[in-house]
Amino acid sequence: MVDLKSLSSEELVNFIESRGLPRFRAKQLLHWIYEKKVEDIRDITELSRQLREDLSKEAYISNLLLCRRAYSTDGTEKFLFQLEDGERIESVLIPDEQRLTLCISSQVGCPLGCRFCLTGKIGFRRNLKAHEIVDQFISVQRIIGPRKITNLVLMGMGEPLLNLDEVAEAIRRITEYMRFSRRRITLSTAGIVPGIRRLPQVAPLVNLAISLNATTDKIRDQIMPINKKYPISELLKACREFPLEPRKRITFEYVLLKGVNDTTEDAERLVKLLRGIPSKVNLIPFNPYQRAEFEKPDDEETLRFQNVLLRGGLTALIRKSRGSDILAACGQLRAEYKSPKVI
Ligand code: SAH
Ligand code: SF4
Repeated sequence: MVDLKSLSSEELVNFIESRGLPRFRAKQLLHWIYEKKVEDIRDITELSRQLREDLSKEAYISNLLLCRRAYSTDGTEKFLFQLEDGERIESVLIPDEQRLTLCISSQVGCPLGCRFCLTGKIGFRRNLKAHEIVDQFISVQRIIGPRKITNLVLMGMGEPLLNLDEVAEAIRRITEYMRFSRRRITLSTAGIVPGIRRLPQVAPLVNLAISLNATTDKIRDQIMPINKKYPISELLKACREFPLEPRKRITFEYVLLKGVNDTTEDAERLVKLLRGIPSKVNLIPFNPYQRAEFEKPDDEETLRFQNVLLRGGLTALIRKSRGSDILAACGQLRAEYKSPKVI
């Protein structure tokens, strides 16, 4: 059986033509799968009943299986999905005044093992296929009905630049087939330098976020082992060379870990490091979880850190932690669930 969702548009055209069907059928299928978001070939009412029956004999449309939906008291929602091979991933929906942001995963687990991140602790299971990345968007949009997702962030489980080909194909499908603006998509990376350079060559240009999290290689080596391969200077060089559009900026995420990376000297060094890069800094006080080795700084400490950045001329926001009561906040995704019951 061929999963129509797993095919790129060229592959879909080949599939259609090899069955002696006219090319425009491929276009119709794309429209019904990605814009109308049908779950089954039999629901494509634009095709004759006979054609639907014939297609269903050798093809189908895959769908993520929703295993659990959790609601935070702050309005954040978390969706736990099961993939066809039984692996599980999470997506998080974050309402915020005008925006409705969906945070999607790019891998099952993550191989980079950042010390403060729960996703890193489950290790790496596998890369997601392009359609499994896109399907998080399709499924959540289908589930929430008339509310429209306005922003998409690749900040869930996994390191998107270690799965760049599938991520790029997913971005193409989301922007071309689903007509979602690339300007409303942000990809976050722990700093895979070759991936940062290749991203604009292989995918429509999206916003870039860098999880910086430290201002010296010594500390960054300790909390983000990938820094040993791509140290801060190389990472920031790739950022300087990233093709930014006018008025666009690179977001730098900085998880504040009490006593580790939150000193005044760190803030001063951060100002110097980012000099010359159109940037904005998101300060994220560490989101705790059970048996975590880190703590978040007090609110006054966080404000003091922010003030040094502001005085240094940077744009710096403190990001409220969202959805932490349902383990939906940054770095808390681990797709845990108790029984493999399918609903
Ligand atoms: N792998 C990519 C995409 C995942 S984004 C990346 O790391 O950028 C996950 C974000 O959550 C990163 O910015 C990371 O620094 C942050 N994060 C991880 N664990 C966290 C925690 N416990 N508290 C707050 N932020 C955390
Ligand atoms: Fe992976 Fe990002 Fe978590 Fe690091 S912070 S372990 S790169 S998901």
